[in-house]
Amino acid sequence: MPDGDLTGRVAFVTGGGTGIGRAMALELSRRGAKVAVVGRRREPLDETVAMLDGPGFATQCDVREPETVGGAFDAAEDLLGPVTTLVNNAAGNFLVHAEDLSPNGWRAVIGIVLDGTFYCSRELGRRVIARGGDNAQIVNIVATYAWTGGPGTVHSAAAKAGVVNLTRTLAVEWASHGIRVNAIAPGPIDTEETRKRLWADDAVREALLQKIPLRRFGREEEIARACAYLVSDDAAYVTGGVLAVDGGAWLEKGMFGP
Ligand code: NAP
Repeated sequence: MPDGDLTGRVAFVTGGGTGIGRAMALELSRRGAKVAVVGRRREPLDETVAMLDGPGFATQCDVREPETVGGAFDAAEDLLGPVTTLVNNAAGNFLVHAEDLSPNGWRAVIGIVLDGTFYCSRELGRRVIARGGDNAQIVNIVATYAWTGGPGTVHSAAAKAGVVNLTRTLAVEWASHGIRVNAIAPGPIDTEETRKRLWADDAVREALLQKIPLRRFGREEEIARACAYLVSDDAAYVTGGVLAVDGGAWLEKGMFGP
């Protein structure tokens, strides 16, 4: 019987040094997975590894560079064994009016979110296919504005929409290799960064809360538990799905509230 146990999994979590990525790395480890975390800065990655319950590994890797991604997979596999589980969480984002967004800013966000997700997924896919198929999983972290649009974040919204499509495409294309591909769309999650950058102001915070039916921000651990579910055998028949974990926020469109 499946019970959420992840013993035997080897997870590769991009952006695992901070925020939601770190929370997911810790949750997968708590359930028995070995966990590799990658990102550009060394220090937060090492901190995550020090907090894991079991074997872990950290290496610097810019997901926009396919060769570096391949090298990071090699290094993780040398230490932990074949990667079974990929969490594409790395992202960049900033608020900007579309007319003011530079080509560099556009390329940076598309590069991390869309290209990076593809390069890492391709790396996992090739490896799993080469070893004859496996019980493997990919979880992509998107955002609910992938389907509503996200004024002020045109780069991120467009990239996340691309990742939703990639999720569905690869779910079908790689099902025969035993690779399940799903996505999680977090709503507003209270992290150190979002608290500082997005809702530091009490009035902004209150206005945002009014738009969330459950009247609170989400917690990193709530995304982490959704991720653990999707990679576990409890979700063995779930592929191509996008799970919104957002307190109902994206559905809050009513003109005549109760
Ligand atoms: P975060 O703390 O800023 O995490 C982003 C991570 O990505 C960082 O660890 C960063 O590390 C890494 N990263 C950035 N560029 C990279 C690159 N080129 N190569 C490798 N790693 C890179 O943000 P978060 O709030 O935890 O968000 C995590 C995920 O949830 C993102 O996909 C985000 O879009 C999504 N999300 C968050 C919220 C929210 O409310 N927090 C809502 C919806 C969706 P380095 O800078 O060291 O590389």
